[in-house]
Amino acid sequence: YSKRFFEILKSRRKLPCWQKRQEAVDMVQKHQSSVLIGETGSGKTTQVPQFLLAEFGSGKIAVTQPRRVAAMSVASRVAQEMDVELGQEVGYLIRFEDMTSESTRLKYMTDGMLLRECQTDPLMSQYSVIILDEAHERTLSTDILFGLLKEVLQRRPELRCLVMSATLEAEKFQEYWSGAPLLRIPGRMFPVETFFTLRPEKDYLAAAVETCCLINVHEGPGDILCFLCGEEEIEKACAEIEGRAEETGKNTLVLPLYSSLPMNQQRRVFPPAPEGARKIIVATNIAETSLTIDGVVFVVDPGLFKQMLYNPRTHVESLLVSPISKASAMQRAGRAGRTRPGKCFRLYTLETFEKELPESTYPEIIRSNLSAVVISLKKLGVDDIVHFDFMEPPSPEAMMRALEMLHFLGAIDDEGDLTDVGSRMADFPVDPHLSRTIIAASERACLTEVLAIIAMLSVPPPFSRPRYAQKAADRAHKHFASGYGDHLSLLNAFQAYVSSGSKTQFCQENFLSERNMKQAENVRKQLASIARKAKLEDASGEMLTHSIRRAFIEGFFMQCAHLDESGKHYLTVRDQQMVAIHPSSFLQHKPEWVLYHETVVTDRCYMRNATTIPPEMLIEASPKFYHPERCKLHEHARKILRRALPRVKS
Ligand code: ADP
Ligand code: MG
Repeated sequence: YSKRFFEILKSRRKLPCWQKRQEAVDMVQKHQSSVLIGETGSGKTTQVPQFLLAEFGSGKIAVTQPRRVAAMSVASRVAQEMDVELGQEVGYLIRFEDMTSESTRLKYMTDGMLLRECQTDPLMSQYSVIILDEAHERTLSTDILFGLLKEVLQRRPELRCLVMSATLEAEKFQEYWSGAPLLRIPGRMFPVETFFTLRPEKDYLAAAVETCCLINVHEGPGDILCFLCGEEEIEKACAEIEGRAEETGKNTLVLPLYSSLPMNQQRRVFPPAPEGARKIIVATNIAETSLTIDGVVFVVDPGLFKQMLYNPRTHVESLLVSPISKASAMQRAGRAGRTRPGKCFRLYTLETFEKELPESTYPEIIRSNLSAVVISLKKLGVDDIVHFDFMEPPSPEAMMRALEMLHFLGAIDDEGDLTDVGSRMADFPVDPHLSRTIIAASERACLTEVLAIIAMLSVPPPFSRPRYAQKAADRAHKHFASGYGDHLSLLNAFQAYVSSGSKTQFCQENFLSERNMKQAENVRKQLASIARKAKLEDASGEMLTHSIRRAFIEGFFMQCAHLDESGKHYLTVRDQQMVAIHPSSFLQHKPEWVLYHETVVTDRCYMRNATTIPPEMLIEASPKFYHPERCKLHEHARKILRRALPRVKS
């Protein structure tokens, strides 16, 4: 072993988990399922799996994480701790990226990936221990894994399951796991003094920047951790804090932390700041419990986070900035007291905290679009979804909506059974709208193109518009514009990128984010490999723009909108909601009908990634949904469709 190994080992031995090492191992050996609770940073994620690795001979250990970044980052840390190469004994598996090998025995993976593996291996037979980490987050996938594991444990008496969490919902977990034993890792927390603002803040971003700068100037040594909601505002805040720190001459290291940040940049948050300098880390709530950063003494908490919310009535799923829960607020404050007494500055009033923050975050399962869940449960052979042993059952309405949508997509039949199409859709780790599009694309000889478009749609927007060169960027992007709209423009950009000589240079010249383009290339490769395994046909046909749009309609015919009579607004077909084309769109005019990939709500409701669609294509693709006489469409939409009808008939 290297000298570094022994240095790290020394610091590992000081982690609270090490005091309970033997107890943890004994508990897992004696009981099929058990619960382990410990403060963030006590060593649950990095240490406990290593303790177990020595004791459980042949099988592998799976450790699930709700977040991709956490799986990657923790696996890389553990590989370092064990002095092995990442991807050998220790690896990670996340959607679109497999960093494991034959010799991998400790596998950090997203909960979604373990769920996916169950499709081909329902007994999880390669594992001898399954650790469900960060269980308090109650993600959709973890909740489903709970239910599946309960059954698997009955059929595999030698299998062990350990539920780990940072918060105190222990009783709930114990109850669900029929009295599983509980081990509490004693905390080692220093007091944290908490401050509230006297009045509500109008602009939380400005307030957060201001607070960081004030702490930097007026408070003693210690790092600052500031929570914000997303990549864009984090980068903006970092630039501002950096600028102001330069003015005051303070030696400051400002570091962003969010999930789409490249690995090597993420890692920069862990090492201690250089002598005499202060680290200011501006992070999403990934730093709340998933990743531990030592040395934080000050926490700045605006009390917000981004949450995916789904409204079953309107079918709209949107990432919205929402207030955090009281439990989250406590977790965030706790980040300040790990090394010594700290301070937490909450950018909201005491009254807001007491009256407006919910006690705990709602489990994802009761606020999500369930169609992807239903389809994967069906594929796993769980037919009676209504009686599935959910820790918290979703509402019957959400369940009904999901079944209805899958029925519309042709994924389930009138009996509620998975159809052949549905079963093929379940092979792809993407939303049912997209997997339906993929199946349609293979039937319409445009699979290669559609996979590229879907890859581009699944990564953060690739077109960058730096503030200093917006005009030049817009000019460059125009080269990719397709008159049909965004889907085909994304394809143009992707194809040009792939066939360019120097990709780095190409991205620079054309104002494309190289990171996002690379990621899209990777996603396309993964999807293509699944398609190959599933033996989907692929041929390059003619009339590509027609077939591609036709394939997208197959998956997205419910996500279309028509221009209203005033010619100003669009109304969605599903619920006549008023929407507008997103300002970033390549569409130059306002076509009668558009298909959109998603809606985003900012100052108003926008359709992001929209493509013009001839109405007759809609009628042809889904006569049930679009029959102008029968369906409950808006009067004006019906008029447009009726006009299109004779064209279809002829
Ligand atoms: P928990 O899961 O209980 O929140 P972790 O196992 O994630 O705790 O972290 C335990 C400790 O390991 C942290 O306090 C930190 O000191 C150290 N650690 C974790 N990840 C890294 C990393 N990437 N670089 C350096 N130290 C790390
Ligand atoms: Mg952890």
